[in-house]
Amino acid sequence: MSNRSSIQFFEEKIQDLKSKGTYKELPVLQGANDAEILLNGKKVINLCSNNYLGLVNHPKVKKASIEAIEKYGVGASSARNIIANTDLYEKMESLLAEFKREEAVLVSQSGFNCNIGTIPAITEKGDLIISDELNHASIIDGIRLSKADKKIYDHLDMDSLEKILKENRKNYKKTLIITDSVFSMDGDIAPLPEIVELAKQYDAMTYVDDAHGTGILGEGGRGTVDYFGLNGQVDFTMGTLSKAIPVIGGYIAGSKAMKEWLLRNARPILFSTCIPPAAIGAVIKITELMMDSTEQVDKLWENTNYFKEKLSGLGFNIGNSKTPIIPVIIGEEDKAVDFSNKLLENRVLASSIIFPVVPRGTGRVRCIVTAEHTKEQLDKCIEVFTKVGKEMDIL
Ligand SMILES: *Cc1c(COP(=O)(O)O)cnc(C)c1O
Repeated sequence: MSNRSSIQFFEEKIQDLKSKGTYKELPVLQGANDAEILLNGKKVINLCSNNYLGLVNHPKVKKASIEAIEKYGVGASSARNIIANTDLYEKMESLLAEFKREEAVLVSQSGFNCNIGTIPAITEKGDLIISDELNHASIIDGIRLSKADKKIYDHLDMDSLEKILKENRKNYKKTLIITDSVFSMDGDIAPLPEIVELAKQYDAMTYVDDAHGTGILGEGGRGTVDYFGLNGQVDFTMGTLSKAIPVIGGYIAGSKAMKEWLLRNARPILFSTCIPPAAIGAVIKITELMMDSTEQVDKLWENTNYFKEKLSGLGFNIGNSKTPIIPVIIGEEDKAVDFSNKLLENRVLASSIIFPVVPRGTGRVRCIVTAEHTKEQLDKCIEVFTKVGKEMDIL
């Protein structure tokens, strides 16, 4: 028993969530985050994982990971620039740079860490950061840590972006335009060619968070910058090693000079231990697999197109999705939670996403299709969506 005074504070906050109907129990996963999973003892089809290419449980990847442990041990035991800069780490970065068709890549501990470490290291007082209103939390926090000023433009709205540039550019030394490439709640894509064009016109730098683009868009999954043919034209392309590459870590791709600077200035690089050998071994193997064959990326798109056609054919509102992230927009918050719960009763796991993560009244269940789903599994999901949709008067 404890009589810490903080407990009452938490209990009230939790009670508040419960009374709003937005309290969610954490599911307990009993195995790998595959297309079908064991959840609280039940077999369930999984539409929640970011394991886009189905590589999280791949035998060759696991073998590479184990081999890295055998040679390098289980942990890095140091920050990168003290004594954790292994040959394996450097191999991973040069392979990723080759894959991303960029001069250099710098890997840090996670995508979140990469954004909160990089943004304050590349901007300073007297600079301006211009950010899409729906950018990821890690970008928002990275901007908070920067001494630069910030302005927010309307989601994907180039007129709104240009207006800010026109009115403010002359008042600042450097200006950085920052955007997610693929937005994780809607699956829509930022108009990077227009953003790069505006950046040239107004002498601004560009920063693209490609967490949900790499492994999905572009040739063989090289990402959104490659998809638009903009290689070498975006100053900073951030990516994660935790989604389509389903391990752990984040990276920033760009110039060699950028890497030189960040290695000596990004605080998570300086003050936090780097990712373990097991992760590095797995990332190297996965990058090699992606460079050898586009089979997994092709399968991902085949499944995505199939599932989307079925959902919209039924009359579900899937918003402006252009990627394997498919929101099924329900509306009211408690209805979206209810919809997700009913799916799960029928052994389909699709997470409800509600205010404040998305705007009020746009509660949804978010589906993520992977390369690993079979036609049978997707058909089963469609059957359950139809049943629950009718039960709840959504269809
Ligand atoms: C997931 C995500 C991140 C964070 O990446 P992690 O490697 O999971 O820390 C950053 N940005 C976006 C857009 C993301 O979706």
